[in-house]
Amino acid sequence: MRDRLGREIDYLRVSVTDRCNLRCLYCLPPQGVRPKAHDEILHYEEIVRLVEVGVSLGIRRVRLTGGEPLARLGLTKLVAQLAAIPGLEDLSLTTNGTLLAPLAAPLKQAGLKRVNVSLDTLRPERFRAITRRGTLADAWAGIEAALAVGLDPVKINTVALAGVNDDEIGELAALTRRLPLHVRFIEVMPLGADLDWAAAHALPMAAVRSAVEKAGLLEPADVAGAGPAAAWRFPGAPGTVGFIAALSEAFCARCNRLRLTADGRLKPCLASDVEVDVRGLLRGGAGTGELKGAFRRALELKPTHHDLASYTEHTRVMCQIGG
Ligand code: SAM
Repeated sequence: MRDRLGREIDYLRVSVTDRCNLRCLYCLPPQGVRPKAHDEILHYEEIVRLVEVGVSLGIRRVRLTGGEPLARLGLTKLVAQLAAIPGLEDLSLTTNGTLLAPLAAPLKQAGLKRVNVSLDTLRPERFRAITRRGTLADAWAGIEAALAVGLDPVKINTVALAGVNDDEIGELAALTRRLPLHVRFIEVMPLGADLDWAAAHALPMAAVRSAVEKAGLLEPADVAGAGPAAAWRFPGAPGTVGFIAALSEAFCARCNRLRLTADGRLKPCLASDVEVDVRGLLRGGAGTGELKGAFRRALELKPTHHDLASYTEHTRVMCQIGG
């Protein structure tokens, strides 16, 4: 599937829930946001149908996200159904890891290939302060379980925040020296509940990179599904380090994705409120042709580049978009 700029779109991020068991400072307000009613959320069969349509148009890779995808019951069943779709080559998951430990083996068995775990600190009290509810030991147990069952690669997503975790960047990067983890640093985006907070704690990727380089020289590396994070490694290290600079070095020209929100909207761009309603179509009895038309419409609406730098308001926070 190519959009009007010729970008090959073969990647669909599917949010399976807008609910999360954590309340990360850069994402949600302390009380969370009002969750959608259950009947507003796509049923698993509806997600499977939409992914089948996407695959028939050229989607090759699907990532499940949320909210916290593991907070939705029966996710393993969805993974098994998606993994069985002919033509879908890659099925992955983004999670905060806190519920992953007991699910890693069944997910792998159901056909999940790889996992991204969000982890912003290695300090227990700080983990609690950033997530407002979570326990570092649970997230770490999830990471260890993912490695143990052979989900590969296991990537770590770290939002780099001035005055919050910028003193740990070297330590987080150094994880890759002893474990086959792929640590990717991410710039905070103005897509959370508190834009002033994000602006006050924003850390340009150049600063993150120099903090990592203080821990050792990096050489270029390859990692499967590297996406927007160019990969680097400390010589001889089993893992890699990546830098995702959505704001300071936007990679829109290489954007390869569409998003499907938990409430059934196709979103052509993370940072745009433009959406195409597919839940209404599905529940109105639309045939495959009409659903394909909705994917094509989303493609036509895909902007050339995001407008995050001038963002002052948005209708959904990351947790509701599916990050
Ligand atoms: N609950 C899952 C998790 O924690 O990975 C999946 C959903 S979460 C919204 C997906 C990713 O979005 C996480 O890595 C999180 O750190 C990131 N995220 C949330 N708000 C963000 C923001 N304002 N800027 C940058 N990344 C953000």
